[in-house]
Amino acid sequence: MARTPSPKKRIEELRSQVRTHNELYYGTDSPEVSDAEYDAMVRELRDLEAEHPEYVDAESPSETVGAAAFTTFDPVVHAVPMTSLDNAMDEDELRAWGDRVAKGVGDQPVRYVCELKIDGLAISIRYENGVMVQAATRGDGKVGEDVTANVATISSLPKTLVKTAPSVIEVRGEIYMSTAAFEKLKAEREAENVQRIANNRATLAVPVNPRNAGAGSLRQKDSTITAQRDLSLWSYQLGEVVGGPEFTSHDATLQFLGRLGFPVNPEITVVDSFEDVVAFCRKWQEHRHELGYEIDGAVVKVDDLGQREQLGFTSRAPRWAIAFKFPPEEKFTILKDIQISVGRTGRVTPFAVLEPVFVGGSTVGMATLHNRDQVAAKDVRPGDTVVVRKAGDVIPEVVGPVLSKRPKNSQQWEFPTTCPCNVGSTLVKLDDQADTRCVEPSCPFQRDQRIIYFASRGGMDIEGLGERTVFALSDAGLVADVGDLYSLTAEQLLTLEGFAEKGAQNLISGIQISRTRPLPKLLTALGIKHLGPAAADSLSSHFGTLDVIASASEEELSSVDGVGGVIAASIASWFSKVENINIIEKLRAANVEFGHVEISDAPQTLVGKAVVVTGTLANYSREGAEVAIKSRGGKSPGSVSAKTFAVVLGESPGASKVSKAEQLGIPVLDEAGFEVLLETGELPTN
Ligand code: NAD
Repeated sequence: MARTPSPKKRIEELRSQVRTHNELYYGTDSPEVSDAEYDAMVRELRDLEAEHPEYVDAESPSETVGAAAFTTFDPVVHAVPMTSLDNAMDEDELRAWGDRVAKGVGDQPVRYVCELKIDGLAISIRYENGVMVQAATRGDGKVGEDVTANVATISSLPKTLVKTAPSVIEVRGEIYMSTAAFEKLKAEREAENVQRIANNRATLAVPVNPRNAGAGSLRQKDSTITAQRDLSLWSYQLGEVVGGPEFTSHDATLQFLGRLGFPVNPEITVVDSFEDVVAFCRKWQEHRHELGYEIDGAVVKVDDLGQREQLGFTSRAPRWAIAFKFPPEEKFTILKDIQISVGRTGRVTPFAVLEPVFVGGSTVGMATLHNRDQVAAKDVRPGDTVVVRKAGDVIPEVVGPVLSKRPKNSQQWEFPTTCPCNVGSTLVKLDDQADTRCVEPSCPFQRDQRIIYFASRGGMDIEGLGERTVFALSDAGLVADVGDLYSLTAEQLLTLEGFAEKGAQNLISGIQISRTRPLPKLLTALGIKHLGPAAADSLSSHFGTLDVIASASEEELSSVDGVGGVIAASIASWFSKVENINIIEKLRAANVEFGHVEISDAPQTLVGKAVVVTGTLANYSREGAEVAIKSRGGKSPGSVSAKTFAVVLGESPGASKVSKAEQLGIPVLDEAGFEVLLETGELPTN
C-alpha cells in the first residue's frame, strides 16, 4: 500500500510544484499542466496550510501573486501593487463570498459590477503628462517586467491623452489575443510545420490557446514580432493617479477610462442584487463562445469604493472582488496511440486514442486528428502529453503536444501505407487533396460505414440499426450491402449475440418501415460521393424517380440547379458499376419506394429562381404555393437572402422576412403578382 506523505512533506512538495508551474506559466508561457490541475494543487496546499497553521509561511506560493519578474526584461516596481483575485469554483462559493461581503459592510446594501474574466495577461500602463511612458506586466505583484515597446504596438491603445487627463495615471487591464488573431497565427504555424516536415526540419511549437499565444507575443524581445500578432486590450482599473478626479464608485472609474479613450468591455453590467450577480455568471458560462475572445470566468467587484476600503485585502487579493471560474475546457492527458478509421467513401481519418480525461463536461477517450497534414502540422506522437480541448458543443480536439514532456526516444508518427482491414489495400493520397483514401470498394470498413450511413437519420432512418448491430450483421456474413437489409429475417437476427425476440422484431419492422422513405432520403442514403441532401432534393424533384436519375447523362444531371459537374460525374460513375446496380435491384425487389413525383408539365418559368412565400394566401395553401413554384423549376426556401428573387406576402406575413426583404431590396409581391410570376417568370410591371 502506498504511504501518504506527512502534511509537512506534502505541503513542501506542493509548494515546490506550484512554484515550478508558476515559472513555466508566467515565465515562459509554456504550462505543463492545465489550469484546472494547477488550481487543484493550490487548493490542496491552501487547505493543508489552513489545517496546519504551524507550517504557514509568508513566502508560500499560496500567499503570493504570480511569479517573480524574469530577467529578459528590465524590472519595474509598481507604484500600487497589482494583486490577484480569489476564486469561486461554483455557485456555492460565489454565494459564500457574497455573504462575507455583506457581513464585512455591516449588511449595508451592496452594488456589484460584473465583468468578464478575460483570459489574457494583466498589464499596467503609465502615462505622465498625457504621454505613455511605461507598460509593465504584473510579475509577482510588486515588481513586473518592462514591456513598453511591445505594448506600444497595440493599436487600440491611446499613446497620448487629452490635456485634461491627470498628470500621472496608471491604467490597468488585460492584454489578450482575439480568437481570430489566434486562429490566424495557429494556421500560419501549422502550414509552416507541414513545409518543415517535407524538408526534414524540426517542427515549431504550435500555440495551444489564445492566452499563452497572447502572453508569448507580448513577452517577445523583438517588438516587431509583437506588432504582427494583433494584440488587444480591455482596461478595467486604475493604479497610481496624481491630479485626477475623485471617484466614489468603480463604475464611475470605468466610465472615466472610456472617456479617456481606453477600451472598456461593453458587457460589463452593474447590478443591485446578488441574484443578478449569479445570473450574470450563469449567462456568460453558457454564452462564453459567442465572444470574439476567450474568457475563463466572470469577475464580480463591489462598486462602492468606500465599502471596498472597509473590506480591504488579504496578502494576495482584494476581499471586495472574486473571480467566478468556469469549468475547464482544456486538460492535459497522454496520447496512447494514433489509429486510423476508414469512412464509407474510403477516406482515411487518423484519430488519437487518449488516456480518458474529463473535459468540457464529458469524458474524452478519442479525438479526431482530421488528416495526414494535421498530424504533421501538430506533430503529435504516441506517448506525448497533449492538450485536449472540448469547448461547448464542439467535438473534442487534440490541440497539440507539451514538448517539454515528450519521451526521449519518441518518433514522428508515420501515416500507414495500407488499409488496416483484412484486404489490406494500399492507401492513396493525391498531391492536390488533403485526404488519404482506401480505394478498394470491397474494403469491409467502407462497407460497414456505408450501411451505417444508409440507416442513419439523414438517410433511411432505420430505427434500431446502429453501429454495433451493423458490425454484428456484417461479421456474421448476413449483410454484404444495404440491399441485403431488406431480406433479413427475425430468425437470422436471433442467431446474433444480444438479440432477443422483441429487439429482432423491432429491427425488422424498422427496416420495413424505411421502405417508404421519400426519394431524396433514399438517394442520400446510397452514400454517393459528394451527393448531399440538397442536391438529392433537387434531383428528385427534377427527375421524379430513381430510375430516371440512374439513366440520366452527366450533362442532364449537371443541368439541375445545385448539381455541379463534380456531383454529376460521381452519380454517373456510381450507377455505372455492376455492384451498385445489384444493390438497386435488391432494393427494387424489396419494394423500396423509388419515387413517384409527377414530372411537371407546367412551363419552366422559374428555373434558377428562389421565391419565398410568407403569410397566408387566398388561393394557395403553404404547400400548394411551394408545389406551384417547384413544379415551374423554381426553389422555395424558408428564408430570405440576397439570392432570393422575390418575396410573396400573404396575410400576416413573418416580420423578419419582410424586414430582411426591405433591407436587401428584394422585390415584394402580393398574390396577384405571384400569379404573374408563376406564369411568366417575370415580376409584374406595375
Ligand atoms: P487569476 O487568473 O485567477 O485572476 C487574476 C487575474 O485575472 C488578474 O491578474 C487579471 O490578470 C485577470 N483578469 C481578467 N479579467 C479581469 C477583470 N475584468 N478584472 C480583474 N482582473 C481580471 O489569478 P492569477 O493569480 O493571475 O493566476 C492564477 C491562475 O492562472 C490559475 O488559477 C490558473 O488558471 C492560471 N495558472 C496556470 C498555471 C499552469 O501551470 N497551468 C500556472 C500558474 C497559473
